[in-house]
Amino acid sequence: MAAVGQDLSAVDVFVIGGGVNGCGVARDAAGRGYSVRLAEMGDLASGASSRSTKLIHGGLRYLEYFEFRLVREALREREILWANAPHLVRPLRFVLPYQRGLRPFWVLRLGLFLYDHIGGRKRLPPTRSLDLRRDGAGAPLKPEFVKGFEYSDCWVDDARLVVLNARDAANRGATIETRKKVVGAQARNGKWIVGLRDLVTSEENEVVARVLVNAAGPWVERVFSSIAPHDNDHVRLVKGSHIVVPKIFDHQRCYIFQNPDGRIIFAIPYEGDFTLIGTTDEDFYGDPAEVAITPQEIDYLCAAASDYFIKPVSSADVVRAYSGVRPLYGDPAVAAQDATRDYVIKREAVKGAPLINIFGGKITTYRRLAEKILEIIGETIGVRGAQWTEQTPLPGGDFLNGDIDAFTRDLRAQKPFLSEALARRFARSYGSLCLEFLGGAQSLADLGPDFGAGLTRAEIDYLVEREWALTAEDILWRRTKLGLRCPPSTAAEIDAYLALRASRRAK
Ligand code: FAD
Repeated sequence: MAAVGQDLSAVDVFVIGGGVNGCGVARDAAGRGYSVRLAEMGDLASGASSRSTKLIHGGLRYLEYFEFRLVREALREREILWANAPHLVRPLRFVLPYQRGLRPFWVLRLGLFLYDHIGGRKRLPPTRSLDLRRDGAGAPLKPEFVKGFEYSDCWVDDARLVVLNARDAANRGATIETRKKVVGAQARNGKWIVGLRDLVTSEENEVVARVLVNAAGPWVERVFSSIAPHDNDHVRLVKGSHIVVPKIFDHQRCYIFQNPDGRIIFAIPYEGDFTLIGTTDEDFYGDPAEVAITPQEIDYLCAAASDYFIKPVSSADVVRAYSGVRPLYGDPAVAAQDATRDYVIKREAVKGAPLINIFGGKITTYRRLAEKILEIIGETIGVRGAQWTEQTPLPGGDFLNGDIDAFTRDLRAQKPFLSEALARRFARSYGSLCLEFLGGAQSLADLGPDFGAGLTRAEIDYLVEREWALTAEDILWRRTKLGLRCPPSTAAEIDAYLALRASRRAK
């Protein structure tokens, strides 16, 4: 029989969901001085926020849908996030080949002109035309692609962005709990009694909260309906899948390819030795936790990439695939790729208890979305502090001038036993925080046994103690992407170590 406890001291803000939006809200709220608690039923970023294309982008395609508000805000966010997380975010040049018979050349040029000018671009370089017969970006492409454009957006390690928001929230006093499912919430006397179940121990408890923020992503409507039954369903679930293949090209630019069906796909340099290709757009009706790529989607992505690359991409090349569900706001009658990517915030009061639901949204806009949620929280339970996240680095992102290359060089100078690849990985994943686990180490041996691909005991311990990692999957696929490099047996070895570690701590 599960134990039921109640924490009667009310927190100001209770956040349901540890994706980018939930963790962004928790961080912003904690930094303003609210007491904050966040519950995530799985691992942090285990929902949509680790399954994205990982672009911090305005979304060139959204201009076709006149989504100027979203594009302007997202374009502006690129440079803010790059400045605040120079370890996780990096500028990326996008190569857009012109394809006869699809969008006319002048439309692409006009779109890119707008893209360059509506978003307050300062540091990112502007668009330029490309002669693909001369430029190296043309080399892996079929010879019929002779011209195109190159423009700027950014890349992010999405799962780490989430974790570092959670880390900063916790540093500022928030309680972040994973494997804790919100199983119900009742409005009483203008407050919420939130029911929680620990999915590891099955224990249950209740927490009192003044404001409830439903940041459950693809589960937002389910959570909303369970708390406040209502008729209309606001969320449109759209599945998107990616494949990872051995790298197709040698440079660091990314391709954006138009397809005859109007969709676009990206081919992005990924984790040094791979190319990430995605994404599809399909309506999804199942449980978001069960989402998986189909053979048809793999074929679609391979065919779309093979239309452009000289060397065909085949399903036999796929080393990894992942799927995610976009929680979009809107009308199921609209085609999946045409549904708005903008977020919608719905504010409710259930028997006087404030509830804020977040529908949709992009990784790119999470920080601005959090600011807007905080405005509502201020209006609801009283303002506690001004906007602050625009100018404040995320943990580890505080190195000089945000110069990641200089930081990596300094790290190697301090820790000469690190190979260049390992130093780069530590710098890019943790920024200055890597010194927390590199500590006084004078040799690789000081970091403990290597579980594979440079993943040592010291790093695992850090991920458990400071980043809420609980399983090998958390470590191999979200805190790091070392699952791509380690043999399958590594997961079992890490899980065995984690079990041993937990049992030692329990004694
Ligand atoms: P999620 O990350 O899904 O987080 C919600 C969390 O709530 C989940 O972790 C879930 O476990 C938890 N939860 C649910 N119910 C409960 C409960 N009862 N109790 C406790 N926890 C609960 N955006 C970009 O900016 N750039 C891109 O390149 C991009 N590409 C994308 C590609 C794809 C294929 C997809 C699917 C999305 C993409 N996006 C992109 C959009 C972006 O990934 C999502 O909009 C964003 O991650 C949503 O974040 P979230 O926090 O709202 O949801």
